[in-house]
Amino acid sequence: MTDTAPKIIPLADLRYASRVPAIPATLAAPTGLLSDSRGRPLRDLRISVTDRCNFRCSYCMPREVFDKNHAFLPQSSLLSFEEITRLAKIFVAHGVEKIRLTGGEPLLRKNLERLIEMLARLQTPAGQPLDITLTTNGSLLAKKARALKDAGLQRITVSLDALDDAIFRRMNDVDFPVADVLRGIEAAQAVGLAPVKINMVVKRGTNEHEIVSMARHFRHSGAVLRFIEYMDVGASNGWRMDEVLPSAQVVEQLNAEFPLTALAASAPGETAARWRYADGAGEIGVISSVTQAFCGDCNRARLSTEGKLFLCLFASQGHDLRALLRGNYADDQISAAIAPVWQARSDHYSELRAALPPDASLPDGAFKRVEMSYIGG
Ligand code: SAM
Ligand code: SF4
Ligand code: SF4
Repeated sequence: MTDTAPKIIPLADLRYASRVPAIPATLAAPTGLLSDSRGRPLRDLRISVTDRCNFRCSYCMPREVFDKNHAFLPQSSLLSFEEITRLAKIFVAHGVEKIRLTGGEPLLRKNLERLIEMLARLQTPAGQPLDITLTTNGSLLAKKARALKDAGLQRITVSLDALDDAIFRRMNDVDFPVADVLRGIEAAQAVGLAPVKINMVVKRGTNEHEIVSMARHFRHSGAVLRFIEYMDVGASNGWRMDEVLPSAQVVEQLNAEFPLTALAASAPGETAARWRYADGAGEIGVISSVTQAFCGDCNRARLSTEGKLFLCLFASQGHDLRALLRGNYADDQISAAIAPVWQARSDHYSELRAALPPDASLPDGAFKRVEMSYIGG
């Protein structure tokens, strides 16, 4: 190639804006007490291990967008398990206590158990083990549950949007049968991944008639079913407010069938409002990301598959930590570069959206948001 020839950069590497955090001149040691500009600590790190998925849920990876022409990240862009663990250790020193592996479909990442083993060896500054969990579509879970548990995974969240096979196949849009996911859930319970949480995204007009049957199925099972409001993540799912079924209506429907009692939040920053069945059949949760913003105590950071740090699910710009990892910097330098990024954080997208009139659109170009399959849920 001559000097004048255009430099070809893979499209996938350019998809979202990012900047490389600066290494401060003085390296402050981590205190575990980082706080952002709104006083929120850093406790929860969600790590996306792949941007690929074997499902094409229309609310996340609509097949018209994520088709055979879609440029997924090349293998060389992905953080290695060693790189992920190195960063995780730095984040733990800054206060992270909980790590969630996600994607795309995390169980598609080869030898994921090895990463879990590596992460399970990390400890908080107080010498406590980390709370490690994983969110999966369940398609490969029956095969992998034992290995995940043996590697040190403690609990798991399985996404399941319907029990009705036809509705489920339509929603995953790859004709995947519900029976296989149910087998995965049973396998997870059998090996002692506990509690198993079940995430159901509720879309008005698509699966709201499944709410009560899902509840009936998982009552008395020990699994905690959580109903998630359909969110306007990314830029490709064609989100419309009229397809959101407010959680208050979900609770109303359920309460009419199986009386519910409210429970207190289990931890600060908890996304789900918790309820229990009055007859003792177990617990459910509702995640009202649209109708009840919970930015006030949001303590979650997200690390993309290629090592970009995002401070909000709706962020439009990441912070390129891979550049630091591969730039020959020492851990204390990377750690000192991450601290001011969190300290400057002011993101509170859901609160901003909630403050707008229902029919208002957000300013053009204000949010070229990352896709959920890229950043993880
Ligand atoms: N593939 C895995 C799965 O489906 O569990 C992990 C990644 S997925 C992006 C993580 C979670 O995000 C899933 O529970 C999924 O249902 C949820 N999700 C994806 N798009 C969503 C949307 N538009 N609104 C609400 N939840 C969404
Ligand atoms: Fe895949 Fe999960 Fe997105 Fe569905 S929600 S397309 S399973 S990443
Ligand atoms: Fe956290 Fe952003 Fe979601 Fe608010 S909108 S709860 S800041 S991820």
